[in-house]
Parts: sequence; C-alpha cells; structure tokens
Amino acid sequence: MLTFQAARAKVARKFLNQKPKEGLGDLVPQRVRAAPAHKEESLSMQLPSRNEVLDGLPGLGLQLAAVLPIHYPRALLRACGFHPMEVWGPASVDPSEGNFHFQAYTCGIVRNATSFLLQGRLDAAKVLLIPHTCDALQGMASVLKDFVATPQPVTTLYLPRGLHHSNREFLVDELRQLAAKLSELSGVVPDAAALNAQIELDEEADSLLAHLASSRARYDLSDKDFYALARCREYVLSETFIELVNAAPRLDQDLRRRGVPLMLSGIVPEPMSLFEQLADAGAHVVCDDLACISRRLYPKSDPKANPFQRLAERLLAAPHDPTRGAPIMERAHRVYETLTKAGAKGLVIYDPKFCEPELFDIPLLTQFLGSKGVPVLHVEFDMSEAVSNQFLTRLEAFAEMLA
Ligand code: SF4
Repeated sequence: MLTFQAARAKVARKFLNQKPKEGLGDLVPQRVRAAPAHKEESLSMQLPSRNEVLDGLPGLGLQLAAVLPIHYPRALLRACGFHPMEVWGPASVDPSEGNFHFQAYTCGIVRNATSFLLQGRLDAAKVLLIPHTCDALQGMASVLKDFVATPQPVTTLYLPRGLHHSNREFLVDELRQLAAKLSELSGVVPDAAALNAQIELDEEADSLLAHLASSRARYDLSDKDFYALARCREYVLSETFIELVNAAPRLDQDLRRRGVPLMLSGIVPEPMSLFEQLADAGAHVVCDDLACISRRLYPKSDPKANPFQRLAERLLAAPHDPTRGAPIMERAHRVYETLTKAGAKGLVIYDPKFCEPELFDIPLLTQFLGSKGVPVLHVEFDMSEAVSNQFLTRLEAFAEMLA
C-alpha cells in the first residue's frame, strides 16, 4: 500500500509529460500549449483526463463523488473519503434522455447532466451531490430522488441566500448534516485535524487559482489553454492542480496579445471552442466573472476557528454571485473594478439559455456598466449546439466597435 504522499506524487508525475489516452466523451486530456503568437514550441505539459483521475482514486483510498454546480465544500468531501468531480453538462452529450424529464425551458446544464447520468456515464460515482444553486438544480435533485433509480444516492446542499445574520449558523448545520451523510456512505469520519488539513490544502489550491486569474498576462497561454488549465480544478485532486499551475509557463513581463481585450461573464465557457471564435473575431479575454472560475475564488479562513465554521466562512465570503442572492449593485461594482483594472474594453455575458439567476441581474448590471461607458454584449447559447453563426456575427460587430 502506497503512502498517501507517495501515491499523490505518482499521480502528479503521471499527468505531466505524458501522451493522452481516450477518456469520457469530450472530457479527454488536453494539451496546454504556450500562446502561439509568442512562442513556437509547445509546452510539454499534459492535463489529465477524468478517466485517469478516476483510475488513481483507489490507490489514494478515495471514492468518486459527482458534483453539480456551483458552490460546495470540496475539503469536506475529501476529508470524508470522496474525491469530488464536477459535472457542468457536459456540452457534448446528446440531451434527449434528459429532455424527457424536464420542461423545454430548463437550462442545458441540467438536461445534459441528467442525460449523462442516464447514459450510465456517472456510474462510477458513489454519491451524487446537487447543491441548491437554482430552481433548475433543485428540480433535478427532486426528479432524480423521486422518479429515477440512480445507481448512487443523491444528496443535496442548501446554500443560504442574500446577506442575513443567520447564514453562517444555517450553513454550518447544513455542512454538518452533509458530513454525516458522506461519512455514512464512506465509513470515514474525519476528526478536526483531518478536516483542517483538507481546508488548508484547498486554500492553497484556491490561492493559486486566484493568482492564475489575476495574473493571466504573466502566463504564456492562449485563452483556450488558460481556461483548460484553470478548469481542470473541476476534476483533478487539489494536489495535482497545485503542481500543474506551478508547472505552467510563466513570463517575466506581460504577454503581448493582439485584438480587443474583453471581460467574459456567465456560468461556464462551453463549448471551449468559444475561445477560438473570440480570437477569430479579433478579441481575447483579460479577466472574467465566470461562475466556474472567478466567482469561486474562496478566500482563506480563520485557522483558529472550528473546521465547520471555516468551511462555511469560505463559501459565504466568495465573490458576489447571483445564485447566492448577492446584492446586484455590489456585484456590478466588483465587475466594473475588475474590468477596469484588467484593461477590458467591454463585457461579454455568455449564458446558458434559460438561466434564471443570471437573467435576474442582466438589466441592472447592463444599466450600471452603460452609465460608466462600458459596452455589454449579452448572448445565450444552447449547450448541445455548436457556437451559432448569429453569435459570431454579433461578436465580430462588438469587437469591431471596440477596436
Ligand atoms: S445554468 Fe443557471 S439555471 Fe442552469 S444550473 Fe446553472 S445556475 Fe442553474
């Protein structure tokens, strides 16, 4: 039996400098390359596939938990013997099976994720965690619990909305209940030291993600490769993520890039070919307000606090997000500050169709940014379709206007 550190080092070595192998649909390993305009040769760095991560879990004494978006206590799952792998669709899945269970106006993440599950592609997961992010995900949890015989138990997590004094107490109770359910499934009951160790590991990985997001010009990566690296946080071990980011190619000065600098907002940039389309339209991304990246830059917690308080504190202190009922004007100010600091000339809001939490914020966000002279392009996409020509035309016109 390998020690955890030895097994971890083996997994990390395996993911660096190796050839890709076939994985689950489009969730295959992705080669992260240096930005082509700046450097000719490719970086010999390979992101692991989900299957490869899955293969390494038994050696680490971990079981798989499939987790739906957006906010959840990653460290708690790990301490209870689970490795969380996130399911944001995926975009490539045929949504037909999921469509039978939901109204046509349900977002693609829920319909595709349900299809993915019904096709047996999450069978390796020992538990399915569905946070109460929105009505659509709450509906998905209800449908799966009441009408679909899933091979694994479905559990939920209710996150408090808005800013209320009782939020912390409520969330601590929720987290304790979730810990009890996970421990019952895995047989692993973590003590405070084990929980704190996982919280600190997560904090280290999250600080690196924050560094990656705020210093992206100092990484020699194209937009697509930058987001492939940042988004592997959705499925690799925190230790692997730390090693991968530390191995990413850095520069002594800011990367010079052609085209119009933009801020990208929305839930998730799918399909990832979006970044090629942005480049073709003469634009590139200098900062984001994406739910899968910048709205999950959880700050460090008080190391003297009880671990459940720490877990709650981190989730509650995440950047403003409409799915957590954040005050819209506070979010608008944060978006404006980030955009100004990064030198973005405009904001592209790229949302899955029928995403209610996002739609609630759009009028006031657009109005506020308009009052500051920041142009906004709002587009909606269907997760199961390629980027539409209509979107490309609008994007090109937007980039031309800002050039
Ligand atoms: S895209 Fe919007 S509606 Fe769909 S799961 Fe995400 S937050 Fe909910």
